[in-house]
Order: sequence, then C-alpha cells, then structure tokens
Amino acid sequence: MTIDDLPIRDDLRGTSPYGAPQLEVAVRLNTNEHAFAVPDEVVDAIAKAVQAELRDLNRYPDRDAAALRADLADYLGHGLTAANLWAANGSNEVQQQLLQAFGGPGRTALGFGPSYSMHPILAAGTGTRWIGALRDPDFGLTPADAVAQVEQHRPDLVFLCSPNNPTGTALDPAVIDAVLAVAPGMVLVDEAYFEYARPGTRSALGLLPGHPRLVVTRTMSKAFGFAGGRLGYLAADPAVVDAVQLVRLPYHLSALTQAAARAALAHRDALLATVDAIKEQRDRIVAELRARGFRVADSDANFVLFEVGGDQRTVWRRLLDNGVLVRDVGLSGWLRVTAGTPAETDAFLGALS
Ligand SMILES: *Cc1c(COP(=O)(O)O)cnc(C)c1O
Repeated sequence: MTIDDLPIRDDLRGTSPYGAPQLEVAVRLNTNEHAFAVPDEVVDAIAKAVQAELRDLNRYPDRDAAALRADLADYLGHGLTAANLWAANGSNEVQQQLLQAFGGPGRTALGFGPSYSMHPILAAGTGTRWIGALRDPDFGLTPADAVAQVEQHRPDLVFLCSPNNPTGTALDPAVIDAVLAVAPGMVLVDEAYFEYARPGTRSALGLLPGHPRLVVTRTMSKAFGFAGGRLGYLAADPAVVDAVQLVRLPYHLSALTQAAARAALAHRDALLATVDAIKEQRDRIVAELRARGFRVADSDANFVLFEVGGDQRTVWRRLLDNGVLVRDVGLSGWLRVTAGTPAETDAFLGALS
C-alpha cells in the first residue's frame, strides 16, 4: 500500500512532505532553532500560567485569543492594537490561513527563490498555483526585477521574506515599497527572523498604515526560543484579520498555547536576552568562513548560507559524520548552518576543517 493506491488529490501525487531530518546528533544546526533553552524563571512562569488553565479545560478556549493578541500588539509597537493582530499555531498556520482566504483553486501565489521552502508547500496544500520567481545569481533582488516579475504574473499573493531564509539577508526596503506599489493582490512579508537583523534594518510593520493589502508575519519560534510552543502571528489591517477568521478552525489555538505564549511574552526580556549572543556567533561564522575563502551571504538572521565549492551533499554528510548536522536546502553547492552557542560554533568550524 502506498499513497498512490489511495484516491488522493491528483495535484498532491508525487509531492513530498516538508522534511528537515530530525536526527539525534550532538550539534544540531539545521532548523534555525534558538540555541538557548528557556530560562528557569520563564519555565516557572509558563508552568504557573498553564496550571491555571487546567481546571477549565472542559471549556473551549477564547476563540479570538483577544488577550494574547493585545500582548502581541504591545510587543510589536508601531501603534498596533489587538484588532491588527492574529495568532495561530506557528506562522506556517497563519500563512496557510492567508492562502486559504486569498489564494486557492484558480489563484496564484508568487515568491522569489531561493526562499522559504514552506511557502510553495503551503500553496500546494491550499490548491494555490505557485509561481517560482527568481532572485539574481548572487541571491539579491532589485526593485526593478521584483516589479517586472510581479507585473508579468499578476499573482493574487506575493510572498516576500526578510530576512530571507535560506540566504539570511534582509530585503532592500525599496523592494517592498516597489512590490506594494504594483502588486494587484496581497503582499505578505515573512519576518520570522526580524529580531536577529543587523542594526538599522527596517521592518515592514512601519508600512502598514495606508497599505491594507500588506501582511507581516512573525513567529515566536526563532528569537523567542519558543519553537516547541507553536505560536506565530500576523500584523495587518483589521479587515485582513476578519478575512482569516472565515477560514480558521474554531478554537484553533488551545487555552494552553495561549497561556504559555502570554507568559513567555510577559518575560520577553529574559527570552530575548540571548539574541545578541546568537548574533555574535552569526557574525563570527560569517567572518571566519570568509577568512577561510568561502563565499558567504550577508546574514540578518540566526543562520549563515555558505558555498562549499563542490557537491554540498558530500560536505553535508561529512559534517554529519563529524557530529554536526547542518542544512542542505537543495541549493547546488551551498549549505546553511544555524548560529548557536559558542561551543556549537567551535564544533561546526572544527568539523568543517
Ligand atoms: C522558521 C521559519 C518560520 C517559522 O514557522 P513557525 O510555523 O512559526 O514555526 C517562518 N518563516 C520562515 C521563513 C522561517 O524560516
């Protein structure tokens, strides 16, 4: 019995699930998780918050997650309120809801590769045709190039990713401005790594006033070190929040998730305290690899894309044999490594030698 023996949708036949290997390796630098464990004081706060919900688990959670959305608006600033915010089980779910509401059969979504591999997978799952537009060979994207590709295809949704995964570099803000000016549909900016960006990097949040078709997605999976908690969110015009409510499952965000995320947000200073340490390792990896003669993309994220100068699958395997798991994103000749603790950087650089 295989999938193909089942009456599965024709458009899903022959496709593969998202699958970063989850291997038991000493040094795991392949999925851009925050390297530091949740601090004890935050563990205690989350435990208390979750405990307080347990007696009422016979009841459904707040369907609108109103308190959590207010907390997220407070974190983001930019004059946003709960009406501008929407949350789900990871920003992947938020993006899926956006595709359900604004994409779907007969509609298209466009992204500029190489970029986040989940965007086309989410499009496929929602029956949205994916248009793989391209960056230039050094992974840059100019406003003129972006505009030309959007005007050519006139997609219902444009996916931008800044800082971009897997290249690591934040978009030139002029690209976002230019795409907003010509896109006929929704423009989504995935800012999953924004907290790691280099000083002076502009968030698309500042563009929300006056741009009701702009959506900025964020996540607690990366800088907050909350990947296991599954909490992602968007900021947009309140009408966009109304739209995703047409497709979200009722009670999609459990009472435990809402309580845990609120407790984590209340302790954001403690959680985000290690972001600078990660950025230091990121910059160290970039500098060290360049000193060794590798071509390396500029990084505003907690990972680094570097050229291995040969078959990246061989290098990936050899690193794994040396106890370090990095990511082969399917980009010929390149690998991506997550910036972790100083000891993890030592292990990676040692294994690479
Ligand atoms: C890791 C990542 C996410 C996070 O997804 P969650 O569902 O929030 O865990 C979103 N976008 C990009 C580009 C990522 O790399």
